[in-house]
Amino acid sequence: MQRNLITGGAGFLGSHLCDRLTALGEDVLCVDNFFTGSKRNLAHLMDKPNCELMRHDVTFPLYVEVDRIFNLACPASPVHYQHDPVQTTKTSVHGAINMLGLAKRTGARILQASTSEVYGDPEVHPQTEGYWGRVNPIGIRSCYDEGKRCAETLFFDYHRQHQLQIKVMRIFNTYGPRMHPQDGRVVSNFIVQAIKGEDITIYGTGQQTRSFCYVDDLVEGMILFMRSPSDFTGPVNMGNPVEFTMLQLAEHVLQLVGGKSKLVFHPLPADDPRQRQPDISLAKARLGWEPKVCLEDGLKRTVSYFRDLLNA
Ligand code: NAD
Ligand code: UDP
Repeated sequence: MQRNLITGGAGFLGSHLCDRLTALGEDVLCVDNFFTGSKRNLAHLMDKPNCELMRHDVTFPLYVEVDRIFNLACPASPVHYQHDPVQTTKTSVHGAINMLGLAKRTGARILQASTSEVYGDPEVHPQTEGYWGRVNPIGIRSCYDEGKRCAETLFFDYHRQHQLQIKVMRIFNTYGPRMHPQDGRVVSNFIVQAIKGEDITIYGTGQQTRSFCYVDDLVEGMILFMRSPSDFTGPVNMGNPVEFTMLQLAEHVLQLVGGKSKLVFHPLPADDPRQRQPDISLAKARLGWEPKVCLEDGLKRTVSYFRDLLNA
């Protein structure tokens, strides 16, 4: 039986990954410091004999025996990763060093949840894995972007220097049930605002674009990637290539939720990327993976989750 360690397992993506691996009958050890994650996200798994939860901060070493490590620990929402930027960099960099050290001692295969943010505010569109990115090294997003870039460097150096089996996955905007209602990312913000009848907060003109992937598709891709032949290290883009402006997203959400919310315009945060769309040819060719859930269906499921959560 595979013994999986999932760091950040009590968060949004991590809890869905724990669900899938537990259902597959694999052994799951979830590690989290509950900065943005919550025990509630895993409460339904706590009576399963093959799933275990441990409070631990990945910036400190961890001694456990595992076969596979999914390294997801890191706040992903700009609001949260900018709250304590020094800790954000430490989580990405010291966290990667600790988890790579663990992989080296145990011989475990290790997957890094990297991000489209390594491309920064890109001049190449859509983004391919060969593009090196355009990242501000000293801005308010840098703690996350540069932390994740440094983690990628560490992964490839451990691979070259110590022959570790690595998998580097560049995740593009992913959404779905179990996002925190105060997460601050755009999909959950718009849905929660629309359900409560509050103003929909558009940052900037709303012409900036993102491409939104439903969580089930992403988790399927993550598991396929982890199981792929060891010569396929990535980096590999994973996301849904259908691109929307934030204004279009707001319209979709309003159509689904109804209500009387109005659009209000707030200043665009510094270094906010103007466009983002994954080129997923590599994932298609090497893993046979592509997303199946369109934005409308994914939004419907997410709206229904937030309605239940907010009793609305
Ligand atoms: P999330 O904030 O819901 O989950 C992150 C989890 O990591 C939380 O449970 C948090 O408590 C935990 N954590 C944070 N710092 C920690 C530390 N020092 N030690 C232990 N646990 C810690 O975010 P998410 O959307 O589930 O993202 C998961 C991973 O995927 C992150 O690494 C993120 O950078 C990456 N990612 C996500 C997206 C996305 O759109 N969801 C996009 C790109 C990359
Ligand atoms: N955004 C917005 N209103 C919000 C939250 C975010 O218009 O209430 C915009 C944000 O400026 C960015 C896009 O939505 O252009 C995606 O933001 P998010 O924080 O979800 O993720 P990012 O891709 O920027 O990390």
